[in-house]
Amino acid sequence: MEIKLTLLPGDGIGPEIVTEARKVLDVVANRFGHTLYYNTQLIGGIAIDETGDPLPEETLGACLQSDAVLLGAVGGPKWDDPKAAVRPEQGLLRIRKELGVFANLRPVKVFEALAEASPLKTERVRGVDIMFVRELTGDLYFGTPRGREIVNGKRVGFNTMRYDEDEIARVMRIGFELARQRRGKLASVDKANVLETMRVWREVAHEVAQEYPDVQYEDLLVDAMAMYLINRPSDFDVVVTGNMFGDILSDEASMITGSLGMLPSASIGADGSIGLYEPIHGSAPDIAGKGIANPLATILSGAMLLRWSLGLHAEAEAVETAVAQVLAAGHRTGDIAAGGKALGTAEMGDKVCEALG
Ligand code: NAD
Repeated sequence: MEIKLTLLPGDGIGPEIVTEARKVLDVVANRFGHTLYYNTQLIGGIAIDETGDPLPEETLGACLQSDAVLLGAVGGPKWDDPKAAVRPEQGLLRIRKELGVFANLRPVKVFEALAEASPLKTERVRGVDIMFVRELTGDLYFGTPRGREIVNGKRVGFNTMRYDEDEIARVMRIGFELARQRRGKLASVDKANVLETMRVWREVAHEVAQEYPDVQYEDLLVDAMAMYLINRPSDFDVVVTGNMFGDILSDEASMITGSLGMLPSASIGADGSIGLYEPIHGSAPDIAGKGIANPLATILSGAMLLRWSLGLHAEAEAVETAVAQVLAAGHRTGDIAAGGKALGTAEMGDKVCEALG
């Protein structure tokens, strides 16, 4: 297979971790007989510095011409002024919009070798394997009216929680399809006891559930879910939520594994659209340039890319197995070493390549 990928290293540790993911993709492509063509482009703070635009036209053009996009991270203190007219995150929001991706998939899987790194009790996290599906294009983040005004001499801010039935149905279907390929369970998280938007969410979720009688479905309120994730995380398979609740719950869930540096994500849209793959962590400016960042989340994002955008399941599994083997052999970067011996970013990438080779 001939594969065209756009790489967007971005800011902070982004270039370091994307380099390692590329190394691993090269090894897997070589092993399975594929040819990879890379186009590396600017996004985020570095794009603002060089072009004044967090998502330059050339970057967008390259992404739209490719089979999939792998991103490092954007942002950092240099571009943090909240009053600045252009900000790195705008590049991220725009690329998601332009690619038409509406579902963010975040697997939260506890590697056996790292179960003890979790802040939760080991017996509680062992075997946790949740797929979070967060809606990306609606909700409080995009609903209108939104804004701020002065009412009776007081500052007032307001946003609108809004979903239409099509937006809900398409993300629910992604969740149900995933559940079918996994353990056949889906939890839809809402706040239907209080919010009208979430009553529509639940109604539509139930309608879509009728199409999937083989999937065991449950409704959960977001406040209850926040508790269940801590006291019984291994009960969940696929969890589908709106944009706002998903933002918060998926970060909470990520802590179950004990390291941000381990968690990949995929943002996908309708069939045939171009997927965007990135680690869930940020640009980690505190460790940028030191060669100590954990590249595994980005490497695992590369595995998701192989599976979701290219349908290369055996290749994706080979990468995931290599990562599990490297961890089982005791190799760690600083963030997961618990004070023990730590490898650098490139050394960790090399270990994964060796395990693959
Ligand atoms: P962060 O995820 O960058 O870092 C949080 C902590 O985790 C830091 O101590 C960091 O060193 C550590 N960490 C993160 N990734 C790591 C890795 N791969 N290996 C080892 N340690 C790692 O979050 P933050 O500090 O809140 O944000 C820093 C910048 O990143 C901000 O400008 C923020 O806006 C941006 N950000 C970008 C994204 C994105 O690009 N998708 C996401 C979140 C934050």
